[in-house]
Order: sequence, then structure tokens, then C-alpha cells
Amino acid sequence: MRQEMVEYQLKRRDIKDPKVLDAMNKVPRDMFVPESLQRNAYDDGPLPIGEGQTISQPYIVAYMTEQLRLRGDEKVLEIGTGSGYQAAILAEIAKEVYTIEIIETLSKRAEKVLGELGYKNIRFRTGDGYFGWKEYAPFDAIIITAAPPKIPEPLIEQLKVNGRLIAPVGDTFQELILITKTEKGIVKESLIPVVFVPMRGEIEKKR
Ligand code: SAH
Repeated sequence: MRQEMVEYQLKRRDIKDPKVLDAMNKVPRDMFVPESLQRNAYDDGPLPIGEGQTISQPYIVAYMTEQLRLRGDEKVLEIGTGSGYQAAILAEIAKEVYTIEIIETLSKRAEKVLGELGYKNIRFRTGDGYFGWKEYAPFDAIIITAAPPKIPEPLIEQLKVNGRLIAPVGDTFQELILITKTEKGIVKESLIPVVFVPMRGEIEKKR
């Protein structure tokens, strides 16, 4: 089922990075969804994970990961741990993953699942991802998996020069925005339309 997902949902669209395809082939997505939905784990869409939150469609996970252009030696920050699935995909490819989740029960559950799967290069934190994770900054790549109306300034600050940040930006509907930090400043690119759950916390005061 996992191989079919990779073949039909990813390769037949435009996912090409072998590291991303290998990771998607390896991580058991069924471990990250509620038991009652395990037979849908490789469906072509998002699924509920409790607390009103969702695990993203596999294609979107693959697409966002590919856009980060990871090679293996990076330190990556994820905002919105959710089920932990995206963190696992990142941990397969990058050196270290730092992931922040605002809902404690989700953070703890993800930490447990990823521990059971044997991941040792992921660090978890419960809190508001708006502020990033200063102790471990700067990051080579940052991925935001809840939708802010605009990209939090502290996260741009915690991105390395030549680093890449991807985020769904907007209200009800969003666009994936890719930010590259250069010596001369920020380069912003709009990629594809997406739908994510809204980012909570500090950012809600900034609308
Ligand atoms: N990446 C996840 C999917 C995330 S769904 C996965 O692979 O399953 C978005 C998640 O972002 C939700 O769990 C939500 O609680 C969390 N979230 C929302 N606002 C946040 C914030 N300010 N900081 C950290 N996490 C946040």
C-alpha cells in the first residue's frame, strides 16, 4: 500500500527527489493515524488525528519536504508536530529535527510513537512555535504545518543565510510560500494553493 502511494500519488505527480521518495516509502503512516482509520492511512488525502487537527495529505508532505532541498546534514525546525509523521519524514533525510506543537497531548503522543519507531534525531517541545526555538537556532530549513496569516518574524530570524522556509500562508485558503534567505535579504516565492488548519497562539494577535 505504501509503495502504491509512492508510485501513484507521488511519482506520477511531480515528486522526484529520491531522498523524499525513499523516506515516504519507509515511514509507516498507519502508525500516525487513529486505529479506526488505519486502513485509510495510505489514502490520497488528509486524515483527522484528534483535537480537531489533521495529518496532511501524503502528496503535500512530500511536496513541502522536497521544496526544502535537504541533503542530509541539516538542522530542521518544524512548527506543528501534530501526529509526528512529517517529523519522521524529515528525520529520515536531515541530521536533526526540532519540532514544536502547541497541544500537549499531541506532542506527547508523537514523541511516544517516534520513540517506538526508533528515531533518535528528533527533539520535541510543547509550546507556541511562533517564537521558534532560540537555543538551537539558526536552522538550515524551517517548515510550518499550520497556517499563519503571515510568517512569524522570529522564524525568519532563526533561518540561516541560504536557508529555506516553507509555510501555508493565508486564512481559510492558503498558498504555500517558500522563503529563501540570501545575503541581500528575503526572496519570496508563491507555490501552490493548499488548505491547512490555522496556526494558533501569538500570531492570532497579529491579524
Ligand atoms: N505536521 C503534522 C500536521 C500538523 S496539523 C503531521 O505531520 O501530522 C497542524 C498542527 O499545528 C496541529 O497539531 C496544531 O495543534 C499545531 N499548531 C497550531 N498552532 C501552533 C503553534 N502556534 N505552534 C505550534 N503548533 C501549532
